[in-house]
Amino acid sequence: MLIYANPHHTLHDGRHEMFRGRLVPCHETPARLDHVLAELGRRPVGERREPPPVPRAALERVHAPRYLDFLQGAWDEWVALDPANAALDALPSTWPVRGFRHDVEPENFAARLGLYSYDAGTPLTAGTWAAAEAGAACAVAAAHGVAAGATRSAAALTRPPGHHAGADFFGGYCFLNNAALAAQALRDQGAQKVAVVDVDYHHGNGTQSLFYDRADVLTVSIHGDPRTEYPFYLGHADERGEGEGFGHNLNLPLPAGTVFADWRVALQQALKRVTEHRADALVVALGVDTYEGDPISRFRLASADYLTIGRDLAAMRLPTVFTMEGGYAVEAMGVNLVNVLEGFEQG
Ligand SMILES: [Zn+2]
Repeated sequence: MLIYANPHHTLHDGRHEMFRGRLVPCHETPARLDHVLAELGRRPVGERREPPPVPRAALERVHAPRYLDFLQGAWDEWVALDPANAALDALPSTWPVRGFRHDVEPENFAARLGLYSYDAGTPLTAGTWAAAEAGAACAVAAAHGVAAGATRSAAALTRPPGHHAGADFFGGYCFLNNAALAAQALRDQGAQKVAVVDVDYHHGNGTQSLFYDRADVLTVSIHGDPRTEYPFYLGHADERGEGEGFGHNLNLPLPAGTVFADWRVALQQALKRVTEHRADALVVALGVDTYEGDPISRFRLASADYLTIGRDLAAMRLPTVFTMEGGYAVEAMGVNLVNVLEGFEQG
């Protein structure tokens, strides 16, 4: 397994997210990846590689150019509004919901911040673009490594995460969709059919929306039921894809409190669908916020279960790219995530 760790992830270090009427410290912190890398130091899995820079064209295979332009320049615009903003995070507070126009880009910065986002929990900071772009480079490099046959598997260990980000919006702590970038890069490198399996606690709404009308990339997500769990407005079982993509999206929502035995039944269902899709390559959107100790999620997986998940994924015998997504029990995150990678290597 090749390991691509984002060398610039600490540049994205949000101060606050909006939660129930108050600003609270961010759950998505640099310490998350630091714990993963520390665990990899204690228990080496795979070989470390440095990712080359990601070409803008690779980002545009997934994201809208005007969105990329906005993200890249957003911090400078935020500070230009008021130099005092340099000490604050940019958090959106207004959104164009049903009936508003999305095709006209407002000149007002706050309005554009809302146009390109869907929640107030995702702070945009001075280093957000640099960190997100370097993370995308990890995901694309991992896909290229696998596609070239240099390795059976590769992992993009990065933050901010990606699976909630769509073609032209950020949210859910995510800016660039690393899993989607990896899946598209695998397609562009010759894989005819790719499957994305999202095992994060939260529905991978960004990834689903990016491939919803396509038959070449199957998207499967196992997650907390959106009737009660974030991101709420997508992730139901009746979302099956549209047009050519009909039948190529599978959502497996599970109730809060789900234990591993039941979660694993859903994983087997997901992997059976991947086999039916006859995928040439697999992308795993790897969140470990399914852990029983996670502060913002409500499944009941134990640390040892992540070894089993790794082995179950390895049993697919597919070229596989992992992208690091959620996981907010920061201390346990290293053990849980590396357990998946080690289980995969053993499988
Ligand atoms: Zn999550």
